[in-house]
Amino acid sequence: MKLQQLTPHVWGGSVWLPVPVMIWFVKEEEGITLVDGGVLPMWEGVRKALQETFAGLPLRRVLLTHGHQDHIGILPPLIEAYPEVPILVHSEEIPFLTGSRSYRSLREGVWARYAPPVPEEKLTALRPEASYAGLQPYWTPGHSPGHTVFYHEADDILLAGDLFTRYFGRLQRPIAGFTADMDLSLRSGSILEKLKPKYTASAHLGVTRDAHLQYARLLPPLLAGR
Ligand SMILES: [Zn+2]
Repeated sequence: MKLQQLTPHVWGGSVWLPVPVMIWFVKEEEGITLVDGGVLPMWEGVRKALQETFAGLPLRRVLLTHGHQDHIGILPPLIEAYPEVPILVHSEEIPFLTGSRSYRSLREGVWARYAPPVPEEKLTALRPEASYAGLQPYWTPGHSPGHTVFYHEADDILLAGDLFTRYFGRLQRPIAGFTADMDLSLRSGSILEKLKPKYTASAHLGVTRDAHLQYARLLPPLLAGR
């Protein structure tokens, strides 16, 4: 895993195999908040980052943008290594993480990969009004029912999960096959117009500057003229 400081408080951890994925470490005096759990091969890098790069700072919590397999891959070893650390996710997403609902039930033909279920007692519902390590959660449903992005106001960076992707050097739509409701997800994307973040970090993969200037390009004509 490649670790790279993105802003004063936020580091991105990236791998390109088996898929390009970025997760985030948010540093504050009290400790580290991990945003998303990536894929299992990232665990060694995450463990090393927590023990070496961020030595002396406890892992305080894990925030999840959603429960797709490539965002929760390191949770089994992480739960074992840090059993007391709370894992927070939007309440709408919890049934999919525990295995009581399947992402496949959301739309005919939607892609979903198997992920081992997370025990319900390990999960805590995000409080929408709360701020975590300087991060404000915003519910952005569509890609999945409980998809949530996290805005770090002091650093002006939006940790956007799968609300968008980035490839060919530009902001792009989320991957259609894995997106339960594309129109809803694109409407949720209007959070860019509300926040106008200087930096928008996508899990797949990387940081887009002034992403709100590219948002309209992603919309179908009907939504663009809303
Ligand atoms: Zn996803």
